[in-house]
Amino acid sequence: MILVTGGAGYIGSHTVVALAEAGYKTLILDNFSNSHPAVLDRLERISGTRPNFVEGDIRDGDLLDSIFKQYSITAVMHFAGLKSVSESVSKPLEYHANNVLGTLNLLAAMQRAELFTFIFSSSATVYGDPDSVPVKEESPRSTTNPYGRSKLIMEDILDDLHRAEAKWNIARLRYFNPVGAHESGLIGEDPQGIPNNLMPYVNQVAIGHREKLSIFGGDYPTVDGTGVRDYIHVMDLAEGHVSTLDYLLKSGGMLTANLGTGRAYSVLEMVKAFEVASMRSVKYEIVSRRSGDIAECWADPSHAEKVLGWKTRRGLDQMCADSWRWQQRNPEGYQ
Ligand code: NAD
Ligand code: UDP
Repeated sequence: MILVTGGAGYIGSHTVVALAEAGYKTLILDNFSNSHPAVLDRLERISGTRPNFVEGDIRDGDLLDSIFKQYSITAVMHFAGLKSVSESVSKPLEYHANNVLGTLNLLAAMQRAELFTFIFSSSATVYGDPDSVPVKEESPRSTTNPYGRSKLIMEDILDDLHRAEAKWNIARLRYFNPVGAHESGLIGEDPQGIPNNLMPYVNQVAIGHREKLSIFGGDYPTVDGTGVRDYIHVMDLAEGHVSTLDYLLKSGGMLTANLGTGRAYSVLEMVKAFEVASMRSVKYEIVSRRSGDIAECWADPSHAEKVLGWKTRRGLDQMCADSWRWQQRNPEGYQ
């Protein structure tokens, strides 16, 4: 059985579906700080079986010990954590307590349970403002905010751990920009309050919850002046985790990999593609740059392809169509 921390959240829930499809049993641990219990019913509807579930916090060592005693866990996929860059700037202690201390607590409990296979959610944010694109795993790392620092710190600690104890099998997966939803429209991204990320905001404009999109910056040195990113369908990302798990269980060791498509789109290109897929128009206004944003970042995903035999299969049209299906069928998210 695979322990999926944060498995009720956006990427975790899609990964639970992909794991079930690949024949793995799962146990979700989540404190619902950024998710909703209804996701469990939806997962059952998609996969035909209900994932095992424990409500609780990764910072609770006794709870982790009891989970590892009660269930026969073979590996941990660790998604639980806080992810808003802007919130991390105002609440650095909360971010480090969840993302760094929480992860250390989980690793210590794994060590007590003699369980050594761990997949960590890192982020393209560890590349900071890259000197050149596409970024490769060896590209320099840097950060400008506490969220990014929590990922950098954990990447380094995992490196220390593997150097000290080679029996640990660790993957540090650097996600680019996950978008889209499961094709059933039953699970998807359900941000609380005003969305920080582009695609949830675009969806909320299209459904009529928000008046218009503010595009942060029209004067970047990019194709059309707007920011450029590597958007990856969340089910491709989820399948990348299954490939990583298969690889770690077979070959072990330490893996660092970009999970992206290698294709880049500007904000305006994303808006246009979404308008076509949804047959709605998305009102927008170009405003000043958002502080801390970079002009462009996209992945060189060739390492993941070579080592894992994984690559993305879903294109921009499907990303937009699937995210719109989720939005339309669940205009208020899971509420
Ligand atoms: P999410 O907020 O949707 O999911 C995280 C889940 O973890 C939520 O269900 C939340 O309730 C739970 N959680 C948070 N703190 C917890 C704690 N202390 N104990 C137990 N559960 C806790 O986020 P997501 O988009 O699915 O992201 C998953 C992981 O991927 C995070 O680590 C995030 O930093 C990383 N990541 C996300 C993105 C992105 O754009 N979504 C990009 C790169 C990396
Ligand atoms: N963006 C935007 N308006 C929004 C949200 C995002 O113009 O309301 C832009 C942002 O400046 C960036 C791109 O969309 O160029 C992706 O932003 P997101 O926050 O989704 O991801 P990240 O910045 O973390 O890559």
